[in-house]
Amino acid sequence: MFQKTATKLAGLYLTIIMIISLFFSANIYQLSVQELDRSIRRPDINRIIDRLPHYGPFDAARKRIRAAQDQQYVEYKQNILQRLALVNLLILLLGGFLSYYLARRTLQPIEQAHEAQSRFTADASHELRTPIAAMRSEIEVALMDPKLTLKQTKDLLRSNLEELAKLTALSESLLRLAQLDSSELVMKPISAENLVSDAIGRVTAQAEHKNILISHTINPQLKISGDKLSLTEALVILLDNAVKYSPDKSEITVTAQTEQRSVILQVKDQGIGIKKSDLTHIFERFYRADAARSKQMSEGYGIGLAIAKNIIELNKGSISVQSTPGAGSIFTVVLQKA
Ligand code: ADP
Repeated sequence: MFQKTATKLAGLYLTIIMIISLFFSANIYQLSVQELDRSIRRPDINRIIDRLPHYGPFDAARKRIRAAQDQQYVEYKQNILQRLALVNLLILLLGGFLSYYLARRTLQPIEQAHEAQSRFTADASHELRTPIAAMRSEIEVALMDPKLTLKQTKDLLRSNLEELAKLTALSESLLRLAQLDSSELVMKPISAENLVSDAIGRVTAQAEHKNILISHTINPQLKISGDKLSLTEALVILLDNAVKYSPDKSEITVTAQTEQRSVILQVKDQGIGIKKSDLTHIFERFYRADAARSKQMSEGYGIGLAIAKNIIELNKGSISVQSTPGAGSIFTVVLQKA
């Protein structure tokens, strides 16, 4: 599809180039012919020739001069035409290559976005199909069992509810991603300490469940420019991951520092860490590092960090990660100081 569009676009570019080139060539030709006429059939020389006596050898000489002038005129005109044709042919060839190259370059970002969208749709439908297939096979097996007990039925329904919870979480994440793609935020000064304590408050239950301590050291005067609701959501994602990928009884710390016009927030954990080869991908949609997959952590689809990154960028900030497998990770969020 993109090949065809690129060819069409190149054709359009080339047509424009050739129209301009032919327009200038026609003008150059017209001017050159006028100039040629003036320089070959010079009126002053013509007057002298006309004044020559009208008989015998003078007539013959006049005719010869006129014929030579005409011949020179025709030759020069042909010369100009040939050169212009050659120049236009070169422009056609070079313009053709250049047009195609420019057309491909113009379409490249659209092509990449299209590919990413297709990959996203394929991944999303795969993730949506998995719980549905699990539910379907469980129900089919149960229906074929003539001696299905009440306990087995309840187990089945419980398992189905779990799959439904996964589907709900996934569809909510997908919806959130779609919303973020088309939203603009109102940036206001917000207290960094408030932001962080609100986010910590939302993961305390999970952390306590694993005996994980979350602490923070933040200057109460420090103000960030951003949208509080979405930034809390992004921090909750980071903290939730920190809890999810950390062993029991470990520690998570959140710090904030200022640097010129920025506020640098860091979430540090003592968790499983992330391999170097995974580091560049974890912010991609649906990417989960092997460690997360192999541990069979059912919660999560690899969308959390993509949402967090989206939110932070909408707040005119950036996010990065440093990690040592087995020792822990540090997620750094740089936002604007209010
Ligand atoms: P998930 O739902 O799988 O947690 P995320 O997008 O939030 O999805 O994270 C993507 C992947 O990045 C995770 O699957 C995990 O492998 C890795 N990851 C994220 N945060 C951490 C962390 N604090 N420690 C170790 N690995 C992490």
